[in-house]
Amino acid sequence: MAFKSDIEIAQEAKLEHIRDIAAKLGLTEDDIEYYGKYKAKVDYNVLKRLQDRKDAKLILTTAINPTPAGEGKTTTTVGLGDALSRLGKKTAIALREPSLGPVFGVKGGAAGGGYAQVVPMEDINLHFTGDLHAIGAANNLLAAMLDNHIYQGNELGIDPRRVVWRRCIDMNDRQLRFVVDGLGGKANGVPREDGFDITVASEVMAAFCLATDLKDLKERLSRIIVAYTYSGKPVTAGDLKAHGAMAALLKDALKPNLVQTLEGTPAFVHGGPFANIAHGCNSVLATKMAMKLADYVVTEAGFGADLGAEKFLDIKCRVAGIRPDAVVIVASIRALKHHGGVPKDRLSEENLDALKKGLPNLLKHVENITVKFGLPAVVAINRFPSDTQAELELVRTECEKLGVKSVISEVWAKGGEGGIDLAKEVLRLIEEGKNNYKPLYPLDMGIAEKIEMIAKEIYGADGVDFTPAGKKDIETIESLGFREVPVCMAKTQYSLSDNPALLGRPSGFRITVRNVKISAGAGFAVALTGEIMTMPGLPKRPAAENIDVDENGRISGLF
Ligand code: ADP
Ligand code: MG
Repeated sequence: MAFKSDIEIAQEAKLEHIRDIAAKLGLTEDDIEYYGKYKAKVDYNVLKRLQDRKDAKLILTTAINPTPAGEGKTTTTVGLGDALSRLGKKTAIALREPSLGPVFGVKGGAAGGGYAQVVPMEDINLHFTGDLHAIGAANNLLAAMLDNHIYQGNELGIDPRRVVWRRCIDMNDRQLRFVVDGLGGKANGVPREDGFDITVASEVMAAFCLATDLKDLKERLSRIIVAYTYSGKPVTAGDLKAHGAMAALLKDALKPNLVQTLEGTPAFVHGGPFANIAHGCNSVLATKMAMKLADYVVTEAGFGADLGAEKFLDIKCRVAGIRPDAVVIVASIRALKHHGGVPKDRLSEENLDALKKGLPNLLKHVENITVKFGLPAVVAINRFPSDTQAELELVRTECEKLGVKSVISEVWAKGGEGGIDLAKEVLRLIEEGKNNYKPLYPLDMGIAEKIEMIAKEIYGADGVDFTPAGKKDIETIESLGFREVPVCMAKTQYSLSDNPALLGRPSGFRITVRNVKISAGAGFAVALTGEIMTMPGLPKRPAAENIDVDENGRISGLF
């Protein structure tokens, strides 16, 4: 049976005018700025007006450790939102906005899939409302002002060998990872080693996503550490007087973007930080706004629950003063078989033994959410066309043995209709109200202790080894006054451990922390385990090769 591609389905959809989508949330034309007929930005002052309104129930979608098989968090998030709408609930969705890097690279778009998508998917995947360009401009303004400061006499005494601020571009361009710039003699700058990150890895993006308003954004930007002086003192964006202009560049970008799902559920798509060196979820402003405007909000955290959900619950929830009312943990039969040792090209064959072997990965994430964070959870089995009845039955019974309810979700094939069972279970969990949410660690612990706690409790590690450099980083960061910030773990997404090859639920391993870096603007310390890529490259056959546009402006090949 041939299936329609995501873009074919998206292009067949009849969209509602965004004015009508906004009206479903009680927003008037005064509250929104149109970006064409199907996209709008919502004024952040709406939040002030509604500050006394009761918050919506918040549902967090997370997943098992990602595999090449695909799990379907975004698809499930969108489909669950549509299912709640079908059940008559006033629902909004909050998602990250895609980067051009993955769109042209391996992964493709990030607007959901099948009959559970946010639209207009081409726009959302390509440029959208320009937020990423604005974030890139703010990042690069800071870089230009920093190098100009050195060039113009270096009053602050910046050590050019200790500049930690990099330039950025929203593209997978490995050629730019390491560059030497400022060449060409005295009139053309000061030569130094430099490099580019992809825009979503910029600390400006992380600060933007955690900001609670424009004033808070400006303060976060001013705290960003860009370099150290010859005497080892940090130099900030505030010291360079760059934060005001950076915030000015971001004032429109900071307004949450409103779009719709294929079934007309309002969806906020705003902000998209990396899920390793940053916290990996959409903006605090979009989530909070959605929670003031709807009665139920479904949102997604990037990667598996060990990274995305942990950071959502330990970083974002603390900053925003929110907590989820229920958590959906997405798994697919294919992905579980991959965790059980089946190679990528044989995932479509029934294999109950491998499925059984892969299941502990899911069960560890369930334990983390329910026991470690005290939250009610349901497992959503994202049904793929190749799943067999015996496989689906095995997952259901194995989950049941451990007291977890699992529900089959068919939103990819059927849209909201395919998510009714899941929505009903989510509503039941919320109704039941067995919510004992608490962050994993208190903020007043030392940075090393926080890292150890995450590694042992969430990953199931025996302990953490800090390299000498990592230890020294922590000493420096704590002496600079950043002991009480949350920790943002930068770890492979593929494994519960720091070794991407250890699938399933590994045990008897230790985590190695090589470096710890302070993101003072975002407000967290980043613990780096292994090499973390902040500028991806394109694969041998980039997805871009298949993307095209015809003479009528109709785009094809996006998926
Ligand atoms: P995640 O958010 O976890 O990265 P997505 O929801 O973006 O995953 O899905 C990744 C890809 O997998 C999308 O292209 C989507 O169309 C596809 N996909 C998701 N669920 C299914 C399914 N049940 N059957 C077939 N393809 C699916
Ligand atoms: Mg996703």
